[in-house]
Amino acid sequence: MARLGSWIETFPEGIYVRPADAWVDPSRPKPRALITHGHGDHARGGHGAVLATPETLAIMALRYGEQNGQPVGYGEAVRVGEVDVSFVPAGHVLGSAQIVLEHKGEKIVVSGDYKRREDPTCHPFVPVPCDVFITEATFGLPVFRHPETSGEIDRLLHRLHSDDSRCVLVGAYALGKAQRVIAELRRRGHEEPIYIHGALEKMCALYEDHGIPLGELRLATGASKDELRGKIVIAPPGALNDRWSRRLPNPVTAMASGWMRIRQRARQANVELPLVISDHADWDELTCTIRELEPSEVWITHGREEALKHWCLTHQIKACELNLVGYEDEED
Ligand SMILES: [Zn+2]
Ligand SMILES: [Zn+2]
Repeated sequence: MARLGSWIETFPEGIYVRPADAWVDPSRPKPRALITHGHGDHARGGHGAVLATPETLAIMALRYGEQNGQPVGYGEAVRVGEVDVSFVPAGHVLGSAQIVLEHKGEKIVVSGDYKRREDPTCHPFVPVPCDVFITEATFGLPVFRHPETSGEIDRLLHRLHSDDSRCVLVGAYALGKAQRVIAELRRRGHEEPIYIHGALEKMCALYEDHGIPLGELRLATGASKDELRGKIVIAPPGALNDRWSRRLPNPVTAMASGWMRIRQRARQANVELPLVISDHADWDELTCTIRELEPSEVWITHGREEALKHWCLTHQIKACELNLVGYEDEED
């Protein structure tokens, strides 16, 4: 009997689906690519043809210019070569998808990046039972257990309201995290205008165009110091400690990232208010998802592979590492 998933080959630059002659999230330009989501380490420009959700294609067009794209909506099935391919919500960022591949009676799911927690800016993860689950493991250590998002947002609001002569400057990645923090703030009843760095403007507009309301946003550039007192300002992490932030009134520097769980990282980035808000599955989400899907095998793409592999083996699930390169996930 052939090895499970023998029709899939892995290379350092990505996963090659031979009977479809297509690559999943390749890190180098390929004739045909299936893209899970718009983050730069998964979606790159310059492929011959791209299959992705309409939202991911819109994000890629914004970042790289128009792609030779074929939009595939959630739940729609397309035939690529000899493989049935569908895109299922991954709950990571707007348009993010798991890619379901079916060939010769075997079902293989490539998770891309995913999370199981609620997120007002994207469709929730849909579990698809499968033979092989190809998963990320960005936070694949038992020490990573993300707290409730609402509690982190409340800490942010509490800090904001405790001193109205200052502003709170939140570092958040431009795709996904920034919009999620804004939407979570709205959910917790914060209706004030939120000020954004110019680098976030187009992506926020793209989210709104796709039906994700973000409330009143204003550009921080051009606002006076007095106008910004007692307000929340959102900027890409790179802007937290640079010249740009000097215009702000004595900012409390915050950062929204799963990595804020590590105190040393927060200190290194001069973050006064670390907010543990992640768009990746934590340890419990990773292991619960594998339990739920009951795959025969788990293949781990990137992250902290060792612990998750060990967990799988102790639960009688075959597991291996794929050793792909180029996936960073600092964007979380
Ligand atoms: Zn991602
Ligand atoms: Zn990633």
